[in-house]
Amino acid sequence: MNQPALIIHGGAGRDFRNARRLSLIRKKLNKILNISYQKLLTSSALDTVTFAVKLLEDDPEFNAGTGSMLQRDGKARLSASIMDGACLRFSAVINLENIENPILVAKALLGKTDRVLAGSGARQFAQSLGFKLADTRTPKSIRRWQKARQRDSDTVGACALDRWGRLACATSTGGRGLEYPGRVSDSGMPIANYATGQCAVSATGVGEEIMSEGITVRIATRVEDGMPLKKAFQKTFAAIQSRGYRMGAIGVDAKGNFACETTTEVLLYGWRKGKKQGLF
Ligand code: ASP
Repeated sequence: MNQPALIIHGGAGRDFRNARRLSLIRKKLNKILNISYQKLLTSSALDTVTFAVKLLEDDPEFNAGTGSMLQRDGKARLSASIMDGACLRFSAVINLENIENPILVAKALLGKTDRVLAGSGARQFAQSLGFKLADTRTPKSIRRWQKARQRDSDTVGACALDRWGRLACATSTGGRGLEYPGRVSDSGMPIANYATGQCAVSATGVGEEIMSEGITVRIATRVEDGMPLKKAFQKTFAAIQSRGYRMGAIGVDAKGNFACETTTEVLLYGWRKGKKQGLF
């Protein structure tokens, strides 16, 4: 049996200017990390990353689910993806409206033939499963949109290794904020959320740049070819840094080693393995 290992992130950004907000977010991240770790002790990696990301979506401080950033037309369109490394299966929802937990809808798609749904089709699918329609906007997210203000991009993600040695990851976002309606976020694509039998990686940052890098798949391929996870992260991020792209990523491998790199000023993340843990 493996020692379960969990790493979660709350986004990458410029500076999370307000120190009070930063410390509040860190506290919340830590709480969710520990609650989710308890779940991982008896559950699968797949169920745990779903659980952790749902908790992050439910907290309006994070840019996922309730309280997400709004697009240029004032609407919230959410994207989330999940991947089971044990059977190499990916599923996602893209630009989903009026559903509080996109990660649960993405998870429900894992067993389907059509595993990535967008827009109204994704919403209809969610409704057919009994998900209730809800307004995911909050007074704060509406005020921010009215002032046409972007905030640090606190997208969320989680990667886990369970007792049985299986890896999984999940990622969820409200997007970059103020984007053109119809813009597709990387968070609903494998390049931001990818897991194999050897590692699981979740990325955050400027979606268009993450797409150009193919970051998670690049890291996973390096690991598959024998490179240690940490080195695979360092090598991939050295190239990203040289291009001036802005993104961060977290990951865990099949031995429970963690890795994390960012080209942004801050990447909010926390990890736990047994009694050992860290928060950044
Ligand atoms: N990658 C997300 C997007 O561009 C935003 C983020 O991760 O903060 O949609």
